[in-house]
Amino acid sequence: MADEDALSREYEQVTQMLDALDTAIAERDTAKARATATARAVGGQLERLGYLARIAGIPFDRELARRLYWDYPDLLVSEIAHPMGAHVSSVAREMGNGAVERPCGGACGRIITWQVSSRTDARKQARLCPECSAELEARRAQRFAEWQVERVRGSEDDRQMLREALERGGEPRRYAEFPGVPGTWAVDENGVPLVLID
Ligand SMILES: [Zn+2]
Repeated sequence: MADEDALSREYEQVTQMLDALDTAIAERDTAKARATATARAVGGQLERLGYLARIAGIPFDRELARRLYWDYPDLLVSEIAHPMGAHVSSVAREMGNGAVERPCGGACGRIITWQVSSRTDARKQARLCPECSAELEARRAQRFAEWQVERVRGSEDDRQMLREALERGGEPRRYAEFPGVPGTWAVDENGVPLVLID
């Protein structure tokens, strides 16, 4: 049956997409594990540096401490506290509010700066400059407008096809309600598609 064939293809499509998702998740997990391992290696180096600085009686570079704290959330606070000779609980207080400076997440290449009050915020905050933000918003609006045009055109085509099917004595009642899915219609209690009822 044609309908069953089409459905099998849809199932097959889901299976293939899940394979691709599995691959992407495995890649992300591997990259995450590598970042974590590298962060621990940096932590080990900071610990050595902390000892040496203490022996030399020279305070740890505050500017570097701020960078480690605000720009590298993968580093543990304890790994930053140690070379500073500070207690973990006092590091956040010493760091105060941070200014995070990163390249814009868009394609413009601008460096943007924003104020954050916690390391969690530093990770969460959107990283698009105002120009890229406005551009993204405009693109979204455009896509939505295109989608609406497409939807109206699609439903005109549906209506035409259904009228022809009814004229030929067809049975539109086999179509289930599935708004937005091409080729499906909401039907009334007699099985007549609602799109044909004025
Ligand atoms: Zn930008």
